[in-house]
Amino acid sequence: MGKMRVVLKQSPAPGLTLGEKEIPVPGAGEVLVKVIATGICGTDFHIWSWDKWSAARIKPPIVFGHEFTGEVVDIGSEVHRIKKGDFVSAETHIVCNRCYECLTGKKHVCKNVKILGVDVDGTFAEYVKIPEENAWLVPSNRPKEISAIMEPLGNAVHTVMEVDVRGKTVLITGCGPIGLMAIEVAHAVGASKIIATDTNDYRLSIAKQLNVNYVFNPLKDNIEKEILEITHGEGVDVLLEMSGAFAAIESGFKILRPGGEVSLLGIPSDRVSIDFAEAIIFKGAVIHGIVGRRMYETWYTMEELLSNNRINISPIITHKMKLDNIEEGMELIKAGKSGKIVLYP
Ligand code: NAD
Ligand code: ZN
Repeated sequence: MGKMRVVLKQSPAPGLTLGEKEIPVPGAGEVLVKVIATGICGTDFHIWSWDKWSAARIKPPIVFGHEFTGEVVDIGSEVHRIKKGDFVSAETHIVCNRCYECLTGKKHVCKNVKILGVDVDGTFAEYVKIPEENAWLVPSNRPKEISAIMEPLGNAVHTVMEVDVRGKTVLITGCGPIGLMAIEVAHAVGASKIIATDTNDYRLSIAKQLNVNYVFNPLKDNIEKEILEITHGEGVDVLLEMSGAFAAIESGFKILRPGGEVSLLGIPSDRVSIDFAEAIIFKGAVIHGIVGRRMYETWYTMEELLSNNRINISPIITHKMKLDNIEEGMELIKAGKSGKIVLYP
């Protein structure tokens, strides 16, 4: 079918390679998508910098990248829902549909999951093939940079929807792209007061453009004192942990009101030690671990929020660049000087 330009993790070492690969041929139940826009995720940054997790999980050579939107240009013989010419975004967890979890409505914790751009060739390319099931139809007039980042938006929607934020004070720790999106989602579904924290002032400056009531930098502000004041000494009703940082997890549980709810999305780089009895048990805290997106409840909720203009995530996209300049994007992330970066092949 010819060649396409791709971004590869060529060998088990830091960095990336701009290269070429055969355009994939979709199998019977798959669709081939011409990539229009693709976001850089924290995971891609980890693959680029080759951290401990990447070294254990990634088997080079592989095309990485997974957040994207594009136009369907070919379909397999058993594809019925999706047509050529459709615009799609995609769920990136390719599940087995056979295990206990898949068969009992919990595909997001499928035991045999394969992740696009991690286990199979991804979207830092001109074309990508995905199972029909994973293709999410998007309106042709939705801005491409928004359709491209529906997958991380789904993480934010999942994290928020797992708890009851209606009329509640919500603390969001970590204003990376997903924490920033969670601000908008929590506001849209009825949180009364939203407090966001980050150690990076650039990211807090993006938060200030969103529907947030208070932002704090724990390196400069005494957040426990400030937040207790805001909540009349009670603590927050809900904690959405979106940083994976030890300090944020520890102080987050401290500032949680007894009986409060917690959604944990941020992935710590190592084991976390907290005072289990005081922080969780005696507090009667309710904790939800969040992975991926509910398939496909989260996608339907996301579609409602986007198509009814309930959330504005445009300010979170700080850079748009050519796919060939991806290394520049990685350097911006490293320097902490970006929100979401979207690439165009
Ligand atoms: P990100 O790394 O861009 O954002 C994390 C933010 O936390 C950064 O802005 C950082 O400055 C901030 N931070 C660091 N220390 C902090 C502290 N003490 N207090 C407050 N903020 C602090 O990541 P992202 O792409 O927005 O993703 C958020 C988190 O969710 C990451 O940990 C990521 O690995 C994780 N994640 C989980 C899933 C899942 O399925 N569970 C999926 C995607 C991402
Ligand atoms: Zn499964």
